[in-house]
Amino acid sequence: MKKIFENIITAFSIKTDTELERAYFLFKMIQSEPLVRIGTAITKFALKAHMPVERLIRASVFDHFCGGVTEEDCEETIVKMYRKKVHSVLDYSVEGKETEEQFDLAMLKTLKILDFVKEKDSIPFAVFKPTGFGKFSIYQKITEEKKLTTAEELEWDSIVERYEKVCQKAHDNNVPLLIDSEESWMQTAADDLIEKLMEKYNTKKAIVFNTLQMYRHDRMSYLKKIHEKAKIKGYHIGMKIVRGAYLEKERNRAIEKGYESPICKDKATTDKNYNDAIYYMMQQDKMAIFAGTHNEESSLFLMQLLEKQNVAKDDLRVWFGQLYGMSDHISFNLAAHGYNVAKYLPFGPVRDVMPYLIRRAEENTSVAGQTSRELKLLKKERKRRKLIK
Ligand SMILES: Cc1cc2nc3c(=O)[nH]c(=O)nc-3n(C[C@H](O)[C@H](O)[C@H](O)COP(=O)(O)OP(=O)(O)OC[C@H]3O[C@@H](n4cnc5c(N)ncnc54)[C@H](O)[C@@H]3O)c2cc1C
Repeated sequence: MKKIFENIITAFSIKTDTELERAYFLFKMIQSEPLVRIGTAITKFALKAHMPVERLIRASVFDHFCGGVTEEDCEETIVKMYRKKVHSVLDYSVEGKETEEQFDLAMLKTLKILDFVKEKDSIPFAVFKPTGFGKFSIYQKITEEKKLTTAEELEWDSIVERYEKVCQKAHDNNVPLLIDSEESWMQTAADDLIEKLMEKYNTKKAIVFNTLQMYRHDRMSYLKKIHEKAKIKGYHIGMKIVRGAYLEKERNRAIEKGYESPICKDKATTDKNYNDAIYYMMQQDKMAIFAGTHNEESSLFLMQLLEKQNVAKDDLRVWFGQLYGMSDHISFNLAAHGYNVAKYLPFGPVRDVMPYLIRRAEENTSVAGQTSRELKLLKKERKRRKLIK
């Protein structure tokens, strides 16, 4: 089974020679930690100083990891991927905005996408991020069980209303909605809210999906806990299962504030925790999984479970997900073999998408194994296409 990931012709079938070369040089640069650190600092400075660097960012890292500035810009990529049976999840990746107007704008974007994708088989999900819909500090205060001021209470009511509106639309349009997870010290507020929305909208199938970050050692017991409640109340659970993107931040904060780190003690424990969640969910009828991972072993594990349990590869309760610009060898090969695959396709104005892009660069630097794997495959394909001798 693992051999299916080795087919580089399928993996890079939609990439032109120029795109292949750009991907190779990009990952080569990302591989170097000092280069990423210096590059990130220079880019941040240049953007702040309003220097004309947007075109350079667009032609390099932006176009590799993003579909465009608007959802319409993404159309070409969506069509290209869908020809190879790879679906898209349009991800409005603007981060770091803190005003009510911006939160409303993010909600309106999500509502627009939910209408846009209603009739499109190529886009099976919509997605949003909790802090796209409200202030981090409010989620944090609720998570820490602190009392909100009157003004904050009103802001929280607006957050709840935004979630309600998008979940209602997702339900009416029959489009499942993924909700990302963020830092542990704000996440409980989002989890509790999402749990209520699952109860309300997931009566017939999973429409509202939360995200479990399995680098957190408490996530397995959390999953079992909400499963108990869901069984009693009779609703479906939808979960995106990821390892987690805020490892350093989580660990550093725990050290700084002197509490036990919420993160698994090592990578092997996270890996086991990840596969345990997948296994647990696969044993239940009323659960839908979106396995967001670039890890070959975990993808393989899920493929094997589907086979063992006689679940069809294209059963709509099970999806594999990767990020655009990463691990095409997993996405395109899984899709070619009949599995459900969707890639997050970020979009937004270049400078607003920068935090997302910086996270991708830093992640690829820290997950050294993954970058060298990308490079090895890209090199092989360049050689096959005779771009290098
Ligand atoms: C479609 C999709 C959606 C995503 N959505 C979210 C989201 O909502 N929220 C979010 O936080 N992330 C999200 N991510 C990112 C994800 O959490 C991971 O950062 C990323 O996918 C790398 O993990 P991996 O499973 O691909 O595999 P791998 O490369 O095998 O694992 C790397 C991950 O393992 C964990 N890890 C590494 N070293 C250690 C260690 N020493 N101890 C403990 N754990 C360790 C970290 O989580 C690290 O990111 C998403 C990813 C995808 C593909």
